[in-house]
Amino acid sequence: MMHLQFGDVAIDRLVELEGPGYEPTFFFPDATMEGFEGEMSWLLPHFWDSAENTFLRSIQSYVVRTRHHTVLVDSCVGHGKERPSTPAWDRLESTWLDQLIAAGVQPEEIDYVLCTHLHADHIGWNTRLEGGRWVPTFPNAKYVFHKNEFRYWEEHGKDWVGSGSLDGGFEDSVLPVMVSGQLELVDNDFAIDDQFTLEPTPGHSPGHICIDVNAPGQHLILSGDVVHHPIQVAYPEWNSRFCVDPEQSRASRQNFVARHADRDTLILPAHFASPAIGRIVANGERCKYQVIDDDG
Ligand SMILES: [Zn+2]
Repeated sequence: MMHLQFGDVAIDRLVELEGPGYEPTFFFPDATMEGFEGEMSWLLPHFWDSAENTFLRSIQSYVVRTRHHTVLVDSCVGHGKERPSTPAWDRLESTWLDQLIAAGVQPEEIDYVLCTHLHADHIGWNTRLEGGRWVPTFPNAKYVFHKNEFRYWEEHGKDWVGSGSLDGGFEDSVLPVMVSGQLELVDNDFAIDDQFTLEPTPGHSPGHICIDVNAPGQHLILSGDVVHHPIQVAYPEWNSRFCVDPEQSRASRQNFVARHADRDTLILPAHFASPAIGRIVANGERCKYQVIDDDG
C-alpha cells in the first residue's frame, strides 16, 4: 500500500498481486529481448527480475479521496472469481478488500467506481459473493464505464477465449451492477466536479479511458493499460497480446507518451510494479520511466 497526499486529495495504491509476469516476448509479441536489455539501466531494480530473466508486474487499484468524493479506479481480479484460462487469477484468495479498509475506506463510502476498461483484472472487486449471488461490493457507488467499452464486451465478451480472457467477468462483475441500477455509461465528456476528467485512449480495448485528476499543485493520470509495463514508454510501438485493435492501441500509447513526457504529470499505472508511481522523461531518442522514489 502506498499513500500520497496533495492538499486535500489523498491517494492510496492497493496491490492485489505482484511479481514476475508472463514471458516478455509472449506478453509483448512485438518485443525483442535486445530491446529490454538496452533499457536495463532504468528497468532495474523495480521493473525487471534478473533471477527469472523476466519483467515484474503488479495488479493494483487506486482510491482517490477529495473533499467531496471517494473514487475507486479499477478493482483488480477479485475474490473467488472463476477464471479458468488464467490460473493465477482463478478463485483467487484476494486480500484487496482488507487493504481498502486498512486505508480507512469502508465499501459503503465509495461514491464512484471508474473502470479504465472491462478486462477481468480491472473489474473483479466490482462484486462479491453473497448468498450464492454476485452483488455489488460498493452499495452506494455509481459504477462508471465508457459506453463503447460496455457495448463491445456485452456483444463480444464470449468471443475471447484463452489466457487473459474475460472468463465470464462481464456476467459476474459487470451485469450485477446493471441489475442493481448502479451502472452509469458515459462518453468522453464525463467529469466529476472539475477534478476528474477522462482521457480517451482506445485500442487496448474499444473504450479504454485514462482518468485525469486535478489535485492541488499536482496533475495526476490514472493510466490503466494504455501502458502495461514501463518498457512501453521506451517502445510505445510494442503492443501487448491482449490489445483488441493493435493499430489504434499503438497510436493511443504513442500519443500518451508524447503528451506526458517531460511534464510534471504523475503517472498512476495499473500494472507497473512497486513503487509504480512516477513520471515519463526523455532519455536520448526514447523515453524512460522515473519513479518518484528516485527523484524525491
Ligand atoms: Zn490489465
